[in-house]
Amino acid sequence: MEKGALEDTLRLNRNPRYDILFVPVKIGPVTAPNRFYCTPHALGTGNQMPHTRAAMREVRAEGGWGVVNTGYCSIHPSSDDAPLPYCRLWNDDDIAVHELMVDAVHRHGSLAGVELWHGGGGTGNKMTRMPLMSVSGISSNSSYPGWMNLARSRPMDKQDIREFRQWHVDAAVRAKSAGFDIIYIYAGMNFGPYQFLLPWLNKRTDEYGGSLANRVRLTREIIEDMKEAVGDSCAIALRFSTDELLNVPGQHLPSEAHEIISTLSDVPDLWDLKSSDWVVETTTARFAEQGAQEPWVSFAKALTSKPVVGVGRFTSPDMMLSQVKRGVLDLVGAARPSIADPFLPNKINAGREDEIRECIGCNICVSGYHDAVPIRCTQNPTMGEEWRRGWHPERIPSGDPATSVLVVGAGPAGLECARALGQRGFAVTLAEARKQLGGRVSIESSLPGLASWARVRDYRTHLLQSMENVGIYPGNELSADDVVDFGCDHAVIATGAKWTREILSSSGIPATGFSSAAIFTPDDILAGAIPDGPVLIYDFDHYYMGGCLAELLTARGCKVTLATPANAVSAWTFMNNDLGNIRRRMIDLDVAIEIDHRLTGFSNGSAELTSIYRNTDRKELSVASLVVVGVRKSCDALFLDLQSSSDRLADANIRSLRSIGDCRVPGAIVHAVYSGHEWARIIDAAGNEDPAAAIKWERPNLLDS
Ligand code: ADP
Ligand code: SF4
Repeated sequence: MEKGALEDTLRLNRNPRYDILFVPVKIGPVTAPNRFYCTPHALGTGNQMPHTRAAMREVRAEGGWGVVNTGYCSIHPSSDDAPLPYCRLWNDDDIAVHELMVDAVHRHGSLAGVELWHGGGGTGNKMTRMPLMSVSGISSNSSYPGWMNLARSRPMDKQDIREFRQWHVDAAVRAKSAGFDIIYIYAGMNFGPYQFLLPWLNKRTDEYGGSLANRVRLTREIIEDMKEAVGDSCAIALRFSTDELLNVPGQHLPSEAHEIISTLSDVPDLWDLKSSDWVVETTTARFAEQGAQEPWVSFAKALTSKPVVGVGRFTSPDMMLSQVKRGVLDLVGAARPSIADPFLPNKINAGREDEIRECIGCNICVSGYHDAVPIRCTQNPTMGEEWRRGWHPERIPSGDPATSVLVVGAGPAGLECARALGQRGFAVTLAEARKQLGGRVSIESSLPGLASWARVRDYRTHLLQSMENVGIYPGNELSADDVVDFGCDHAVIATGAKWTREILSSSGIPATGFSSAAIFTPDDILAGAIPDGPVLIYDFDHYYMGGCLAELLTARGCKVTLATPANAVSAWTFMNNDLGNIRRRMIDLDVAIEIDHRLTGFSNGSAELTSIYRNTDRKELSVASLVVVGVRKSCDALFLDLQSSSDRLADANIRSLRSIGDCRVPGAIVHAVYSGHEWARIIDAAGNEDPAAAIKWERPNLLDS
């Protein structure tokens, strides 16, 4: 039996305040059962992982999202985003992989939508090698390595436009045959039809260029074509980016964004509004609050009678309510909140808002897409594992209540492990050395912009405190003797990791660094150490810590220089769309930046930096203190101590000993949560566990003939 299912059905106790969120919404010929709308977003699965994708979407439908959409779905090989994972409907052979998802979503009474997409000049065609085409042959020259493309686009001629319209129709017909209820045309984010709308890209002199009515013509034609082809049973949704055009004055209305919505008004069955820039749209919690997208949406409902959907990383039911009540949105759009908690709507419906696993706004999910793997989530370790490991975000196989488990360390790994073990019904004891639970998230959430990261702790401690089979003991630092004396069936060690003072050797390998009392680690600074200034932060971790410490120390009045061997500040954060915002923040704070340099000396108030390109290019900086943000090492002394005492473990009838989280392998918080969750699920097989053997792998072309 699984734990979790029964509670869902027994505890329907919705606060009437939220009734309006559960009102059905008519969208053209179909009706959404409620206002919870899972907007199109990439999953990192593409057409190559149809089962993984279907299961990742199904869980959202099961969790109460009234509409569940695909990510971007190419209508023709001339729109190919490889190596980034996108799905496609290029011919009839592609229908079957979509049917899997549609059927999965329909099983739970939700509507299934597909975001048809043609990238125009805004994609790469690196796999299909077809020439790129765009409205007037103007290509965007991205300077981000991940998005750079050597090919340029050619202007579309009339034949191209005819074919472009037909491809939309053909894909819509296939989408209908796959069973989709809502079919999108994507006129946003620098893609296909959107390029026709923008005066700076559309330089045409024919009936598709010039006046606003002409620039809107193609979008209107495609909507009308699609309506004629499939509009009897499918809603036609228009995804449109407003932010750029809000800055272009209109002739009769405040902006061209207003005028386009007013011109097309009720032509589409639904308006899905968003930013033109994915980096802006997905701004992390470090740089934007919940609901920050409201200005791009709030004017629309006055210009159309059709339903409007927008996003805003809404995790609070009251924020959702406010947007609906104030007439900003008809449908509450979500990507990240639905990833972090696929059961968010059902929890509101059941009066269990306090159990929502709130998105922390870290964008690890975004990095999964960039990495072309199924998206991962810091808060929801089951995301992406629904099909291949059979993990459900709310249900978990029950365990033996007579089996006792001691978890040592209440950071993200220990908390998640204890929570999942507790949910399974084991007799769990959670011991934590500090008075406060949460480990690194309790400490790091005090960094500028990271307050929401405490949700990793709060969601878990809230649930743990309600479990009668879990005992929590903060302020208890356990030794190996304590663990043996305590006695348990399974001991789980989640004692975390610490930053070291290691720096990079000349061969780029971390090695013992310099010795000086003026060298600090992030742990020192977070524990309250105040370095003398000026301070040099040497960052070869490349994630958030270097930039956050620069902010923190600047706020404390230090003059900060941030040096890194990478060619950007916080270079990894290209992957979670934070890179530009972090650099901007450094500029705003007047933090001096030294990229492409390795630290080669530090003593007597001076640091030596050497160019990564030429050993002879060296510079001296006058700095009083050094903060090294580089390598984290496991705090595994307790684990190793216990591991070397196998006789004592056997005498104490401790059947298994396991390290999890940063104690096992240092990583990001997402890795620690996943590690804790995984062990809680497979602890029964301790000693014989082989997680890889229990994983199903997608086979390429499984559905092809
Ligand atoms: P992770 O990210 O793997 O969860 P953290 O560093 O966030 O790791 O958390 C590890 C936690 O373990 C910290 O809260 C720390 O205080 C606690 N801890 C470390 N050693 C012991 C110990 N011997 N007994 C109890 N708790 C410990
Ligand atoms: Fe939210 Fe982070 Fe999960 Fe993405 S990975 S859904 S941002 S908690």
